[in-house]
Amino acid sequence: MMPGLYHQYMIHSNYHSHFNLDDGYGELSEYAESAIERDLDIIGISPHAPLCYLNDWTLSEAGLNEYAASMPGFKAEYGDKLEIYSGLEVDFIPGGMGPADTKYHELGLEYRIGSVHSIEDPETGEHLSVDGPIAEMELLHKRTFSNDIKPLVSRYFELEIEMLELGGFDILGHCDLVKKRNVNNRFFNQDEKWYRNEAMQMLEIAAGKDVIVEVNTGGLSRGATIEVYPSKWMLERCHELNIPLTLSSDAHNPDHIDYHFAESLDLLKLVGYGEIYFFSKGEWRSQPIL
Ligand SMILES: [Zn+2]
Ligand SMILES: [Zn+2]
Repeated sequence: MMPGLYHQYMIHSNYHSHFNLDDGYGELSEYAESAIERDLDIIGISPHAPLCYLNDWTLSEAGLNEYAASMPGFKAEYGDKLEIYSGLEVDFIPGGMGPADTKYHELGLEYRIGSVHSIEDPETGEHLSVDGPIAEMELLHKRTFSNDIKPLVSRYFELEIEMLELGGFDILGHCDLVKKRNVNNRFFNQDEKWYRNEAMQMLEIAAGKDVIVEVNTGGLSRGATIEVYPSKWMLERCHELNIPLTLSSDAHNPDHIDYHFAESLDLLKLVGYGEIYFFSKGEWRSQPIL
């Protein structure tokens, strides 16, 4: 979409952005400049919190402290031109870490996104990502789950539910990420009842928590999916359950700061949503989708 083509009068925001201190491309300033150029009013930065196992896609412990310390200055630099908030995308790994851990609440950051990216192989202790290359998803499917997709999907949504029960986060990140490598129904068909039941059960738990579900366009911007997270039929259920939504791009590149936003707002209207949530000056508020 070209800059300046948004529906007028709405506050446009994105709370899910990575940068070159974790697995994103570009400096923080490039994300701010891109947001201003595209008429966004608010951006939130949300690098991956360091994990409890070796990896190449999160902040290091030193990087986390550097990031938290740099945010007040970065925000001040943009003053009235752009509202900037400091967040963190925290993985949930049972027995290892999660957004409820106090350490993520003591960094002076303003919000947290709770996300599940990987599933542990109980035999090897290895954490295999559903967000990684197709080969990694295939290994998870073949080795950890003996070529049976149902327990894999079930474990994914079970982890989401465990994370929801523990809380400690504002936004539930890309809540059906398990579909990322499912292009052309390579692993499962979302229309099948067993899959829908797993996803719906998770949404029902989310509805009972003080959490905002994220509509995330990051699968689209990276060419991995043909739809947003969560899928349209899940958004219909979110609407029935009165679950508040926010819209974010999971940008790993400054050019993607508002990727597919206008189309996503149209989709939300189509499934019945009349309002969307945004975070500003310490609180989450709703506004009509125009
Ligand atoms: Zn994520
Ligand atoms: Zn992310």
